[in-house]
Amino acid sequence: MNKLWVRLTLAIGIITTIGIVLAVLLINRQVSAQFRYFVARNQTLSTELAMPLVAYYAENGSWEGVETIVDTLHTPGGKGRGQGQGMQYGTPNLILADTDGKIVYDQSNRRLKQSLSKQEKIAALPLTCQTQTIGYLLVSEANNVQLSGRDQAFLEQVNLALVQAGMVAIVLGLLMGVILARNLSAPLSRLADVARRITRGQTSRRVPLTGVDELRDLAASFNEMADHLEEAEMLRRNMISDIAHELRTPLSVIQGNLQAIIDDVYPLEKTEIEDIYEESVMLHRLINDLHELAQAEAGQLSLNLEATDLVALAKNTASLFEGLAQERGIRFTFNAPADLPLVQADADRARQVLHNLLGNALRHTPEGGQIFLSIARAQSQGRSFLRISISDTGPGIPPDALPHVFDRFWRADKSRSREGGGTGLGLAIARQLVQAHGGQIGVESTVEQGSRFYFTLPAV
Ligand code: ADP
Repeated sequence: MNKLWVRLTLAIGIITTIGIVLAVLLINRQVSAQFRYFVARNQTLSTELAMPLVAYYAENGSWEGVETIVDTLHTPGGKGRGQGQGMQYGTPNLILADTDGKIVYDQSNRRLKQSLSKQEKIAALPLTCQTQTIGYLLVSEANNVQLSGRDQAFLEQVNLALVQAGMVAIVLGLLMGVILARNLSAPLSRLADVARRITRGQTSRRVPLTGVDELRDLAASFNEMADHLEEAEMLRRNMISDIAHELRTPLSVIQGNLQAIIDDVYPLEKTEIEDIYEESVMLHRLINDLHELAQAEAGQLSLNLEATDLVALAKNTASLFEGLAQERGIRFTFNAPADLPLVQADADRARQVLHNLLGNALRHTPEGGQIFLSIARAQSQGRSFLRISISDTGPGIPPDALPHVFDRFWRADKSRSREGGGTGLGLAIARQLVQAHGGQIGVESTVEQGSRFYFTLPAV
């Protein structure tokens, strides 16, 4: 009873039944009434009242005194009763009205001098004398007219046909209701079933797109949500295994070194202790990066947005790297036009993005290579941005790896990057920070020629 399709069927069934019963009743009433009027009019004609009445009028020029003639023609047992016509009359009340519809004769004497209603006028037999209407003859209370056996049978047949048609329509209505309700509720049941299966861990389940437009929309949105859930679930699993893997490496180095010291494999040399310290620094950095990334991905990063001079900020950050670049024989070039607008940014976060990208460029550029830092205006979707590009002459990134460089823990060469102090989170963090500002980040790269990382920040 609480099922949608049962309720829909019931609702459709009830509405259909009420509609059809009402229609049958109305049609029945109308048909009966019209039929009775029709019979009554025939009776009137057959009483042959009309002819003598017209003759009376022609003779007298008015209806005055007409009751005398009607009474003789139409009293019980009178000659106008239509015996032998196959009709058994009750007591139809004869009414005669003048041309204006004013009643000049009423057999029951109840409505004398009143007027005929519009409907009565239509039902009445117009009396004409030399093409001129001289009055109306009406058998009122036609419902009292008793019908002959044949007429009664005809009416009963009509009624029976109406009832049969009504029953067939109700059964058809109910059948259609069941089909319609089933069609509507089946996709919903399927959706509920798939939702339950996804909850139980079958995340690859999807709903087929069937049914009416709204249900298709619902199924499509549901599938989209299931895609996101599946992806999020996969990312979560990957992340946990990545984190476990990343933590295991420095921890096992620390553990191995400490064990060696305990087992007197090494004497307690400063360099061994330095190794252990380096690994703990790496662990610390990894945990910090993870914390930052988790916050950024959860959208909980609080940005202290203010109008920031990006050129000054970039120059300042670059100066930290210039010394290191010089040491390694790398040429560092900075280029920015003079009249650039300020950007709406959190200076610390913008510095961190630059830091990560410059750090990567420096790490991947060989001795004698070059790094270019440039800032320029850019437009995107009708808004102004500043675009910061960092190009290097490093080994470049293969095309199949390019889409993954911003994924967390992704490294082209895992072991080498770790040795260089990379956590594999630098670019993932940079992407989150830039996106939190409403900017974009990207990379273009050609193997053996170099890479160009860029990001945009909204201009004030
Ligand atoms: P990591 O801490 O390993 O540098 P990142 O997220 O910063 O982590 O970078 C991910 C990977 O992208 C790096 O391991 C490296 O393989 C690649 N990569 C990043 N920057 C460059 C670059 N300038 N040139 C070549 N490869 C790069």
